[in-house]
Amino acid sequence: MSTAKNVPALFGSMVFNETVMKERLPKDVYRKLKKTMREGTAIDADVAAVVATAMKDWAVSKGATHYTHWFQPMTGITAEKHDSFISPTDDGGVMMEFSGKELIKGEPDASSFPSGGLRATFEARGYTAWDPTSYAFVKDGSLYIPTAFCSFTGEILDKKTPLLRSMEAVSAQACRVLKLFGKDVRRVTATVGPEQEYFLIEKEDYAKRKDLIFTGRTLFGAKPPKGQEMEDHYFGSIRPRVAAFMAELDEELWKFGIFSKTKHNEVAPCQHEMAPVFTTVNIASDHNQLTMEVMKRVAQKHGFICLLHEKPFDGVNGSGKHNNWSLSTDDGENLLEPGKTPSENAQFLLFLTAVIKAVDEYQDLLRISVATAGNDHRLGANEAPPAIVSMFIGDELQAILDAIEAETDYTEMVKTKMGLGVSALPDIPKDTTDRNRTSPFAFTGNKFEFRMLGSALNIACPNIMINTAVAEELRQFADELEGAADFRAALIDLIRREVKAHKRIIFNGNGYDDAWIAEAEKRGLHNLKSTAEALPHYTDAHNVELFTRHGVYTRIEMESREEALLEEYYKTLRIEALTMIDMVREEILPACISFQHDLAETVLRKKEAGIAGGMESGLLSEVSDKTETLYRNNEALEQVLNHTPAGKVQEIVNYYHDVILPAMDAVRAPADQLETLVGKKYWPFPTYSDILFYV
Ligand code: ADP
Ligand code: MG
Repeated sequence: MSTAKNVPALFGSMVFNETVMKERLPKDVYRKLKKTMREGTAIDADVAAVVATAMKDWAVSKGATHYTHWFQPMTGITAEKHDSFISPTDDGGVMMEFSGKELIKGEPDASSFPSGGLRATFEARGYTAWDPTSYAFVKDGSLYIPTAFCSFTGEILDKKTPLLRSMEAVSAQACRVLKLFGKDVRRVTATVGPEQEYFLIEKEDYAKRKDLIFTGRTLFGAKPPKGQEMEDHYFGSIRPRVAAFMAELDEELWKFGIFSKTKHNEVAPCQHEMAPVFTTVNIASDHNQLTMEVMKRVAQKHGFICLLHEKPFDGVNGSGKHNNWSLSTDDGENLLEPGKTPSENAQFLLFLTAVIKAVDEYQDLLRISVATAGNDHRLGANEAPPAIVSMFIGDELQAILDAIEAETDYTEMVKTKMGLGVSALPDIPKDTTDRNRTSPFAFTGNKFEFRMLGSALNIACPNIMINTAVAEELRQFADELEGAADFRAALIDLIRREVKAHKRIIFNGNGYDDAWIAEAEKRGLHNLKSTAEALPHYTDAHNVELFTRHGVYTRIEMESREEALLEEYYKTLRIEALTMIDMVREEILPACISFQHDLAETVLRKKEAGIAGGMESGLLSEVSDKTETLYRNNEALEQVLNHTPAGKVQEIVNYYHDVILPAMDAVRAPADQLETLVGKKYWPFPTYSDILFYV
């Protein structure tokens, strides 16, 4: 186990980072590479060749024999194909080689990755392109090169490219706005710290459950006698086995230069969390993908399975991922940190207003960015934010916005509190802003925390939405203010007008309250309850206009993405339904039949022996009735599955949502009741009590 002493040496030891680059690259090559990293300029062939050789030599010294272009296709996972460095020599031996061309570009076959219909129109071939803004690293004997993935004709097929484009967009517009405040900033970066929740369960339990194996979540399971009502798990002391897992996880993550910082138990039994220190969103996104992978692998070494599904257990808290987001200049100024001077406050309020307007105008996109079949079980359940997007800004900021809006009544307050003219915005104490855990999009003192993400999600998606939507609002603000005769007056007019127009999105109350749903409807906010309902809005005119204007997606790319997401939705449900049918037929029904057989036997024997008492026959008829229902409902599920319409993908999705899901619920209900009636030794797989309460 590691000691505090060797962490600095361990940290980033498997990463081709600044230190290694400085050490191993000629000065001019290093400078050129840094320029590319900073400004996104193209890299020339000779520079790439030198970098490639240095990378290869370093990787070989770390035990690598292969390299891989690591990319993030439209599925939730990352993809990789490994090639070795070996190249034959004349004398029949090999040498280790890696060219600039191999570093810059790869050509994986694109045809096995989702393309959302793009494949029909375009070539199947695709290519990967090196992303020099995220460091390469060595893992399991391979040099991993972070790359973007495109079709041969240039349409993007991954999640990294649009993220990089959205970062460009928000940077460009934020720089324009900062110029108005007299700041000459070259680049503004979106920063993110994702808090990752997960479950750890015993490997043996997992291996006995087909639902966990095939779908990542339990499709059956009665509530255990003890759940999370005692609230004894959150921040509770960590079990020694789990602590050992966490220690190794930290070590592994640190090697990859991932700033794993905080770890603790979560609300549900067996649920835990890891939070890294924030970084540039592109790197945060790569790191989060890597984190999820490392979590799964390290868990296995400790006899656990790490479940990243958003809702592995019904009736028990699901797992989320809190996306802490902010904007920062290249000098490290956090643009969402309330300032100390009047001018800084004006700037802060303008950025705050941009985020408020962005969240209100693009509620649907934010909702869509977290919409998956798995997350549908979580959003709106009692531990996660509702499916309605709203913002929490806290009482202090609310008072300030109110004052700005009600200029006539609160002139004095505006002047003093907002500090546009007179004094500074009071420091906003952090701990008064982070108390509303029910808000989907909460201001937490110097950043926004978007809490609707499911734990398995690639954080690129929501951040593409946030970056681009905020870029659009900043663009509009810059357009308006650049032409203003009196900047200060125009600025306050703009803030007042926009706050008034978009304050409906701000809700500082309890988001779990039913009254909020009615109130949100009155305010005209979206309540897109399911993925099936949310996804079609992706290609609504205002969203297409947003992404095309900022060069993040073309219309075709958006249509293909919508289609890929719709397909993923119903395919997920299809696998779940098939797994259910199989488990009922192969495991649950036979268990119920054996139990009934033994009961019937007992009833007969007792009768023969002339013993009174009919408890067994009462139980027998109850189990028998429920088993009949289970059998019927299972057949019905298969029926409806076989009658899936062959139409447009949206029709299939609606059918799965409206018909298949209720049919699945109808199978689960009697099965869960039977679990509580049928003797333990008959039940074919571990129950919630077994899985959630190990020592
Ligand atoms: P807590 O929520 O426990 O009070 P913090 O608010 O400090 O802890 O951090 C929660 C997460 O937010 C961490 O991952 C942290 O690195 C991240 N974070 C902090 N500041 C920023 C920022 N400016 N931009 C993005 N993420 C941030
Ligand atoms: Mg937090």
